[in-house]
Amino acid sequence: MWIVPEREIAGLMTRAAAFDAVEQVFAAMASGDACNFPVVREALGHEDALYGFKGGFDRAGLTLGLKAGGYWPHNLERRGLINHQSTVFLFDPDTGKPSAMVGGNLLTALRTAAASSVSIKHLARPDAKVIGMIGAGHQATFQLRAALEQRAFDKVIGWNYHPEMLPNLAQVAEEAGVPFEAVDLPGMDEADVIISITSAFSPSLMADHVSPGTHIACMGTDTRGKQEVEAALVARASVFTDEVAQSVSIGEAQHAIAEGLITQADLIQLGAVINGTHPGRTSDDQITLFDGTGVGLQDLAVAAAVVNLAIDRSVAIQVDF
Ligand code: NAD
Repeated sequence: MWIVPEREIAGLMTRAAAFDAVEQVFAAMASGDACNFPVVREALGHEDALYGFKGGFDRAGLTLGLKAGGYWPHNLERRGLINHQSTVFLFDPDTGKPSAMVGGNLLTALRTAAASSVSIKHLARPDAKVIGMIGAGHQATFQLRAALEQRAFDKVIGWNYHPEMLPNLAQVAEEAGVPFEAVDLPGMDEADVIISITSAFSPSLMADHVSPGTHIACMGTDTRGKQEVEAALVARASVFTDEVAQSVSIGEAQHAIAEGLITQADLIQLGAVINGTHPGRTSDDQITLFDGTGVGLQDLAVAAAVVNLAIDRSVAIQVDF
């Protein structure tokens, strides 16, 4: 069994490798070769922590396993550790023996950024120039860095509920050599692509904040009750998702479904577009929306990629188990 510690991930995993792994596994999900198992998420009643498991099996990539982890809200203040903690466990699908244990914290950020980037590659207009960010926290910087590689963007605009965090976005834009401008929410109508990545429980982005032809990646809503965009915006858009079952229950689509504005049948797996079995965007004024809920197979895909890189570079630790 191989161990790849969290400290090694930054030196091994690239955005390009995460993108390829996530694109491939989305395709495998849509073709029926890969499936996610039901998610377990529990309040521990200890340290106010939320803990759970996201697992699955990819028969095409032969990746079996789970990510175990969650959110410990007091880690930073009490122990100087980050609040999100996760570890990926991989198993040999031929025997069931454990094959790898991999630090999952940075991988989670990279695989989440890869998901919105895959949606931009397949759904945004090729001539997209302005990218809008809603959210400026930890994940937002990863999202922006990855998205900037997908189109020839010449401007970043951003809004955040806590405006004092906007310099996080400005710094990423500056590193990429693209100008950044803080806007109010109606100013998002300048954007050709919008990524929302907040922990909000009520919508910020409204239907009339968005211009025809925009692609929106909703990445923050991953729990029942969370919401980043108005349900009417979801209803106005063509909606794509990583996993339909999660989109209707814990994703952004949960609200439009609950309000009777759309049905489950309106949701399209992004993997179908990757596989060419769905055309994706069909006109320049269509609004496309990706409901990225975050699936276990994404975690397994990037973890399997990083194990191979770690073995190649002799930084994986081998243990007899
Ligand atoms: P963070 O704590 O670093 O940042 C939170 C962001 O939400 C900040 O921009 C903050 O200003 C904003 N925010 C807080 N309260 C708000 C409110 N009431 N209205 C609008 N915005 C508000 O968190 P993070 O690590 O960047 O994660 C952001 C979100 O992404 C979380 O909800 C997290 O669960 C989710 N997430 C999703 C996936 C996925 O695969 N879809 C993966 C990882 C994280």
